[in-house]
Amino acid sequence: MTLTGESIIGFKRGARHDETFYGFNPATGEPLEPVYWAASADEIEKSVQLAAKAFAEYRCTSGTRRAAFLRQIAANIEALGEPLITRATAETALPAGRIQMEIGRTCNQLRMFAALLDEGSWVDARIDRANPQRTPAPKPDVRSMLRPLGVVVVFGASNFPLAFSTAGGDTASALAAGCTVLVKAHPAHPGTAELVGLAIQDAVKTCNLPEGVFSLLYGAGNQLGEMLVQHPLVKAVGFTGSRQGGLALMRLAQARPEPIPFYAEMSSVNPVFILPGAMRERRDQLINGLHTSVTLGAGQFCTNPGLVFLEDDANASAFAEKLGELMKTSMPFTMLTEGIATVYQQSVTARASHATTLAVNRETTGTSCQTTAALFQTEAQRFLQQAELGEEIFGPTTLLIKHSSRDELLNAARALEGQLTATIHGTEQDLAEFSDLIAILETKAGRLVFNGFPTGVEVCPAMVHGGPFPATSDGRSTSVGTRAIFRFTREVCYQDFPDTALPEELRNENPLGIWRMIDGGLTRDAIA
Ligand code: NAP
Repeated sequence: MTLTGESIIGFKRGARHDETFYGFNPATGEPLEPVYWAASADEIEKSVQLAAKAFAEYRCTSGTRRAAFLRQIAANIEALGEPLITRATAETALPAGRIQMEIGRTCNQLRMFAALLDEGSWVDARIDRANPQRTPAPKPDVRSMLRPLGVVVVFGASNFPLAFSTAGGDTASALAAGCTVLVKAHPAHPGTAELVGLAIQDAVKTCNLPEGVFSLLYGAGNQLGEMLVQHPLVKAVGFTGSRQGGLALMRLAQARPEPIPFYAEMSSVNPVFILPGAMRERRDQLINGLHTSVTLGAGQFCTNPGLVFLEDDANASAFAEKLGELMKTSMPFTMLTEGIATVYQQSVTARASHATTLAVNRETTGTSCQTTAALFQTEAQRFLQQAELGEEIFGPTTLLIKHSSRDELLNAARALEGQLTATIHGTEQDLAEFSDLIAILETKAGRLVFNGFPTGVEVCPAMVHGGPFPATSDGRSTSVGTRAIFRFTREVCYQDFPDTALPEELRNENPLGIWRMIDGGLTRDAIA
């Protein structure tokens, strides 16, 4: 498949205007052909209009039809084969194995939503039957279910060129819900976005769905994103990226004449708590596990463990020393973009003025995207006084925080901002002794991990990849797992509607055989 660098607008391609940019190979510093052409204001308008028009038809498609569409997208992505892997590795410097894994994850995710749609009960159908004899007032027939929101804008993420980008979790869940989707391609991997975008465009055609169900727009600079978020026909947004960018766009979404839901995944430091029993029993194992988790993918994971709490004793000193040695000897990392590498270096330099540096090795010989790992240490009291120490540094670094009392530890936990994850390493006795810590962490994080590491998010129905602000803009939501679909729906209630005018999910005979709540009880029975 030849890349042309134009936006995908429904079934057509965008025109070539003045504003252009290139993809970039972070490992060599070379620009990558072809040139990418930013969408014009007219093209942005056209794609939103198409998406809104298509929504009128797409929202009424059956779950099984949308399931077939999602499976077709997955099959088309798999059929892209080697050229997708080659382009994605060139644009990101991520190894081929990681890209292959991400392709698998992306396709599994699409198929997971397809299975959800085929089963059908996700719509949360509820029926409360009428009682005309009720006194003093008769009871009406009330039925409700989830319906799609409308046109959804998705911002591709820099750090997951596939699984959180063009056909990633936000796109899959919005399309599954019955929404039409406009993706703003991340400028760090335009070619990967184009290949996947064309695979989706082809699936729309193959499945005889209306033009406008999907479009992919290019633009390097804030203007495209701002225009999309503010467009009156856009009804929701999915975003993964920086806290700064997420907050700026969230404010725009809220300041619209019609404010819309803005689901941003932004900033998380994913604290790890090493409790005394675990430290005594398996210190070396914890050091190796933590080192692998912190440096995985050059630390460019939203679940990277950025804070590690440990009791201040001889074990902690040995732990810090050995982890420091491992961090110092880590090979230099090539980060996704020059911008991300620069912010990482600046943040590491700034951290050194607030915490003790245990390991930093700035010697690199590669491109300006190359960085090295860093390890810092501080005390719980200092952590409580310096808000900067709780901020995310996106890259291969972590901060050890030593506490000298249980109260110090609990106070530090209470002071944490909202997180995607919190991890506890402990024995059963530790768990019993620190039940109050776990109670605090439940209020802070979307996912609690026991005796593991937070990097690596399993794609499965029960997964929660969300958390209180600033981990996400809405802590009631998740962007991974089947519940991600709920972000792009709203409840609609039908009162005293004739059976034939109801959606199939709410009809008396239950033609889809789904689970429904009838008069307060769950059943798959029809209504006589
Ligand atoms: P980013 O700078 O927030 O950009 C993400 C997307 O949002 C891009 O498409 C960008 O488009 C757009 N955007 C950003 N600010 C905007 C604004 N004010 N108005 C309109 N559009 C805007 O994030 P990034 O490039 O992926 O990575 C940079 C930093 O994000 C990292 O250093 C890291 O701190 C953080 N990050 C966090 C996570 C996480 O899950 N916690 C994941 C990835 C990145 P343009 O560039 O075209 O304007």
